[in-house]
Formats: sequence, C-alpha cells, structure tokens
Amino acid sequence: MNHDESLELQILATIDKWVEQELRPIAKEHDQADEYPSDLVEQMKALGLFGATISETYGGLGLSASTYAKIVSRICEVWMAPSGIFNSHLIMANCVERAGTDAQKEYFLPKFATGELRGGIGLTEPDAGSDLQSLRLAAKKDGNDYLLNGTKTWISNGIHGNCLAVLTKTDPTVSPAHRGMSLFICEKGEGFTVGKKLKKLGYRAIDSAELIFDNFRVSADNLVGGEEGRGFQQVAGGLELGRINIAARGAGMAKGATTMALNYAMERKTFGKTIAEHQAIQLKLAEMSTRAAAAELLVHQAASKFDRQERCDLEAGQAKFFASEAAVQNSLDAMRVFGGYSYSPDYEIERFYRDAPLLCIGEGTNEIQRMIIAKQMVARAG
Ligand SMILES: Cc1cc2nc3c(=O)[nH]c(=O)nc-3n(C[C@H](O)[C@H](O)[C@H](O)COP(=O)(O)OP(=O)(O)OC[C@H]3O[C@@H](n4cnc5c(N)ncnc54)[C@H](O)[C@@H]3O)c2cc1C
Repeated sequence: MNHDESLELQILATIDKWVEQELRPIAKEHDQADEYPSDLVEQMKALGLFGATISETYGGLGLSASTYAKIVSRICEVWMAPSGIFNSHLIMANCVERAGTDAQKEYFLPKFATGELRGGIGLTEPDAGSDLQSLRLAAKKDGNDYLLNGTKTWISNGIHGNCLAVLTKTDPTVSPAHRGMSLFICEKGEGFTVGKKLKKLGYRAIDSAELIFDNFRVSADNLVGGEEGRGFQQVAGGLELGRINIAARGAGMAKGATTMALNYAMERKTFGKTIAEHQAIQLKLAEMSTRAAAAELLVHQAASKFDRQERCDLEAGQAKFFASEAAVQNSLDAMRVFGGYSYSPDYEIERFYRDAPLLCIGEGTNEIQRMIIAKQMVARAG
C-alpha cells in the first residue's frame, strides 16, 4: 500500500467514525424539525472538510477527487443534507483556485480552508436556472467597486454562510450573453440580505435561500480573475468536480437505501419467513445492489480521470446522471420493501425518498445532463 492509499484509508476511517457518532444519531430529528445542524459545522471545520479539495499551499487538505468523492458518499449513505454544507463551498473555492488572481487566492483560500469564510455558489435566479445566460443580476462599475442589484434563489448555505460566489451580468447587451457575465466573491454586508428561507420537500436542515442584492457594493478586487466577461466559463470549469460530487452523493444514497432495505428484509417476516426469502424481494435487492455498485464504479471512473487531469466531462456527466437516478430508484424500491412502514417518519427510508430527487436537479438537471453527454459523444467521435 502506498502513502496516498494509507492516508485515504485513515481519512475514511475518521469520516466513518464521525458519521456513526455524530451524523446518524441526529439525522432524523434535524431533518424533521428542519433545524440547522450548527454543531456539525464546527466538527467539519475540525475535520478540515471546508478545505478538503483546496491545495495544501493554501491550508487545505489537497485531497484528490477520488478521496473526496468517497468522503461524500460515506456521508450520504447515512444522511445526504450535511454534505451540502461543504460541497458548494468547495465549488466556490475551486473557482478561485482555478481562475482567481494570486491576490484572491492568497486572501480567500486560507479563509475558505478553515471555514472562517464559508458559503457556496449563487447562480440560479427566479427566471434563470438551466438557462444561466438569461440571468439578470446586474453588476455596474462604480469607481473601484461594483454595485450589485438583483435576486438569487435556491442558494445553498445562503443563510448560515457568510460568503458567496455570485454570477452576474456586467454587460447585458453583448452577444453571446455569456461574454457579459462575471463572477464576484461577495462577503455578506450592507445590501446583501436574505429574502427568505425556502421550504423544501427534502434536503431539510440545510439552508436554501432567496438572496437579495440591493446596491450591494463589492470591490473590483473581488472580480474573479480580475477581468470582466469570464464568469460563465469560470463557473462551467468547476462543473466537472461539481458533477462528480453530486454523483458521489447519489452513489452513497443508492448504497444506503440498499443497506436499509436489506436489513429490514432480513427482519420482517410474512407467511412464516423473512421477506428476504421471497423471490419478489430478492429481485429488488439484487437490482438495487447492482445499481449502487455500478454508480460507485462510474464515480470512480470519472474521479480517477479528473485526478489524472484527463478530460472527463463525458464521464462526470454519465456518473452524475446514472448515480442520481440510481439514488431515486433505490429509495423508491426500498420504500416498497418497507411496505406500509416506508410511509412512517419513524423509518429513515422516507427521508431518502424525499432527498434523492434533488440530485436529478442540481449541477445541471438530468435532462440537460443527457444532452451534454450526447454532445460529448458526437464531439469525441468527430
Ligand atoms: C434544494 C436546492 C438547492 C439548490 N442549490 C443551489 C445553489 O446552491 N446555487 C444555485 O445557483 N442554484 C441552486 N439550486 C438551483 C438549481 O441549480 C436549479 O433548480 C436547476 O439548475 C434547474 O433550474 P430551474 O429550477 O430554473 O429549472 P428550469 O431551468 O426552469 O427547468 C425546468 C425543466 O425544464 C427542463 N429543461 C430546461 N431547459 C431545457 C432544454 N434546453 N432541453 C430540455 N429540457 C430542458 C429541465 O431539465 C427541467 O426539467 C438549488 C435547487 C434546489 C431545489
């Protein structure tokens, strides 16, 4: 075993222990009360999760995408929502590390790594989701600053986070529209407020918010890369890691739902035997475990290519698409295995059933994802 492998094993053992001791016991209560798990944030800081993929040069753990994906999966096997506290935060960090100026890297990345500054990415608006180029949040130059005006919605970590990468329009007239888009790192302050906390089907306990920018003043020093018009590409460049991250969540949830169904099937008896002995249930369990294993392998394939710095847009898209659908299907199949008890909040499978569909929406809906996969197939064949 080489150094990297043994380090990964140590890290995963620490995560497993933390998940069992801290996450599992509070998941049901926090989800049902939609109560933010503040204690977990402090523990995540101590574990270094806010700097998981940030380079060691800037105080992060500098983990590979493969190790990071395994951490995310382990967490989501038990409870998906807490992964959202650091996942979109690391996409913001990744944008700065890839596209930021030296001064931005030196200022922001150490603060991101400790969690002193933490947040996520603000792309979506009430009238712009999949079609990001139609977003309207305006950033107008005013001396050495920019003034931001507009609304973002569905922003993870929007309430408890204190910093956000915000995609704006610096030039609404230019064509193609993406040339007029710029990304700013915005620390909360006057003019940057929470409109409202959004109620959700699942992914509860984690804050999703509407955010209002009303003449919010941000220094031109916070324009990522120091040049206007590159925001769309900067954000798109982070999507491979973002998709591997969602895929890792899906693979973890698909496995977690399978484990729950198996355990229940081995205990629950009907007609004088455990339901695991009925062929109809066996077929479900076999399909679920195969789907979960396939999802894990696709995540591994995409993450390994990413770590080798090979092009992996197709593989990350396939992993995201398959693993998120696997999470949805496995949580539904597990509901069937649990019978009537699947409908009770006393059993945690109902949370998986509510949480999983988000994975088909975030980081590019699965409809858009399939279009991206097909375009890449054509491009690679051409
Ligand atoms: C819990 C939660 C957390 C989120 N967190 C964040 C966050 O932190 N930051 C952030 O910026 N956003 C976040 N989002 C927003 C999310 O990224 C968007 O909801 C997503 O991009 C889809 O956009 P939309 O909801 O506007 O759907 P739309 O773009 O309106 O799409 C509606 C439907 O039409 C389909 N569709 C759209 N265009 C096409 C097309 N060209 N061809 C085929 N089908 C198409 C879509 O696939 C979808 O099925 C979050 C959302 C949720 C629910």
